[in-house]
Parts: sequence; structure tokens; C-alpha cells
Amino acid sequence: MQKRILIVEDEPAIRDMVAFALRKGDYDPIHAGDAREAQSAIADRVPDLILLDWMLPGTSGLELARRWRKESLTREVPIIMLTARGEENDRVGGLEAGVDDYVVKPFSARELLARIRAVLRRSREDDEDGSVGVGSLRIDGAAHRVFANAESGDQPVQIGPTEYRLLHFFMTHPERVYSRTQLLDHVWGGSVYVEERTVDVHIRRLRKTLEPHLLDGMVQTVRGAGYRFSASPEV
Ligand code: CA
Repeated sequence: MQKRILIVEDEPAIRDMVAFALRKGDYDPIHAGDAREAQSAIADRVPDLILLDWMLPGTSGLELARRWRKESLTREVPIIMLTARGEENDRVGGLEAGVDDYVVKPFSARELLARIRAVLRRSREDDEDGSVGVGSLRIDGAAHRVFANAESGDQPVQIGPTEYRLLHFFMTHPERVYSRTQLLDHVWGGSVYVEERTVDVHIRRLRKTLEPHLLDGMVQTVRGAGYRFSASPEV
């Protein structure tokens, strides 16, 4: 069955462009122009994903995201926020409200579809022993080792303990943007003695670790928001 995607956007030109792109991508788009219309569309049928404009008349996209994250009906529905350039400073707020990813206007249909596919495909599950695979990387949880697939077979990745924990978190939560604060909470356990800068340091080290395997592009910077780990390395 086609996945249903709810577009919450008040500008007709963008809404039409997005709906057209979604149909091309074999999705079933439905549209709402404001919070009230969005609520009634969700009551009708819960969508598989929501594309949410930041600037809406009345209730903002951010408020809507917050509300949907609290309601049992919509808690698990991925949300991709559509933001304008210049709204970067607010993106961290969106992440903390539970938004999964961002697409910055103006965006291409290709870019939008790629983000949607990635978010829909991601799996949060790892095996009981902590083993997980994303793209060309695999963690052997029992052995605490990381391997990169190569044509010549699996190559072991030399990795430090903090980078290992960071990578493990990323690989069990791929295709989703996390702010530095969120990464600190998840990977460092919210220790008050660790500064946000620490995250950047270990991100750099993690990229260096993956570089020899040409996989450093999996660790992506999302400007004004934080970091994302993606199965498809950025070039
Ligand atoms: Ca708008």
C-alpha cells in the first residue's frame, strides 16, 4: 500500500510542488493548510509521515510537533520540518520538540524524497547483544568491534571507546537529527561536566575513524541543528 504523507503547509505553490513530488515518489499525499485541518486529517487516518511547515497561520509548526509528540495517536509518526533559510537558530528547538529531520527551503524534489525515504526506512532496533548494521557499517555488539564492508571483505575499524558509544547510538538511531545537548544526554548520560564542544571533538574523531573506509560522510552536520547519521554517505 502507498504510504500516506500529510503535508501541513499554507503556501499553495510549495504545497503543490511537494504533492507533485510525492506522487512521483509513489506516495499518497494529503494536505492541510493549518493546525485545524491537520488535526482533522489525522483523525480521519493517521499518516505514515508528516511534512510540517514551520511558519503556519495561527498555531506554529513547532507547537504542532510538540503536541503530536505527546499524543498516543501521533507519537510514533515521523515528522520532517520544512524551514526557511534563516530559521536555523530555531532548529534545535524543533529537535527538542521531537522533530525527526529538516529540509530547508528551497529544496529539490529529489532532496525531499531522499530524506523521506531515509526517515521511513530507518530502524531503531539493534540485536540483543547490541549488534547493528547501517549501510556499509556493522557493529558486532558481543565483540565490541566495528566492521566496514569492502569488496575485499569486512575491514575492521579501529575505534576509541567514546567514538564507539557515539557510533552505536547513531547506528541505532539513523536518519534523524540530534542536537549536541541530545547527544550529550544519550551518549554521555547528561553529565554536567561535559561541554557541548566535547561532542564536536568526538564527532571529528569519529569521522577520522571512518575516513580510511570512505564512510566519514555518514556522519553529517545539519547546520544550526546538530548531527545526523545516514546510511548514504554525503559526498
Ligand atoms: Ca508557511
